[in-house]
Amino acid sequence: GGGRGCVTLCGAQIRDLLDAKHNVLFDCDGVIWNGETAVTGAPEVVSLLKQRGKRVFFVTNNCTRPRENYVQKFSRLGFTDVAEEEIFSSAYCSAAYLRDVARLQGKVYVIGCGGVLKELRDAGVPVAEEEDAEPGASIYNCPLDPDVKAVLVGYDENFTFMKLAKACCYLRSSECLFLATDPDPWHPLRGGRVTPGSGSLTAALETASSRKATVIGKPSRFMFDCISSQFGLDPAHSLMIGDRLETDVLFGSNCGLATVLTLTGVSTLQEAFAFRDSQEPQQKHCAPDYVVESVADILQALEE
Ligand code: PLP
Ligand code: CA
Repeated sequence: GGGRGCVTLCGAQIRDLLDAKHNVLFDCDGVIWNGETAVTGAPEVVSLLKQRGKRVFFVTNNCTRPRENYVQKFSRLGFTDVAEEEIFSSAYCSAAYLRDVARLQGKVYVIGCGGVLKELRDAGVPVAEEEDAEPGASIYNCPLDPDVKAVLVGYDENFTFMKLAKACCYLRSSECLFLATDPDPWHPLRGGRVTPGSGSLTAALETASSRKATVIGKPSRFMFDCISSQFGLDPAHSLMIGDRLETDVLFGSNCGLATVLTLTGVSTLQEAFAFRDSQEPQQKHCAPDYVVESVADILQALEE
């Protein structure tokens, strides 16, 4: 909450901010790591915050891994004391939503990847089997499962026209739920390349179905509700640290958290100022309260 002032913090101010907060929510990619490389100092920051009695959570829109796989990634990158229960991904939360909120009676048709399928299986949510494309299979004769009562779209490197066509058929029924793991438009890859995100696949299906997906991941409140229902967080004592203004910072604003933008990822300080100075009230919610170069600045502040 507060001023959304994009205030660049230095040592003592970072310490004061952390003194006032009990819970720290970290976005993952662009904040604590970039791909397979930890951001310098990030593992130490996480450990130090925990030593100081803070509760630490990880909130990622990356749906490609199940939770147990994230635990391995954390440890591989030098984060030694992160527990599975502290990791909230859009895949885990999508499965929780289908089980606990939608209470799905039927199957979900998934455009997505292994992480989503594993979380759905762990949550006991039935998934419509995707049969291998038969020779001669077409949009006219591919089988449709009458038990499908939801479509869930996430990041899918094997996205096809056939999957889009099937999902579109399921969504003709107004009783069929339409969910998206996250709205991310694209992600940076090594070497200056990018990959299209779940949001781009969701947009294709939204156009094809003339419907709007319910987004589970950031900036939707649901991920915070998910954490809160298990750990009972007070928004006033919680801090969200992220690198993408339209997802991480908006998520923090939507949930009533103080927000910090780090400049080790996607969004720039100029973009933050542009949101802050915008005339559109909606856009202002994408402006962070605070800015730091890197989470490493927190380390310095705590060690001073
Ligand atoms: N989804 C995919 C497929 C990604 O590759 C990434 C980042 O690498 C993300 C989402 C964004 O993850 P985060 O919310 O941790 O920044
Ligand atoms: Ca990020």
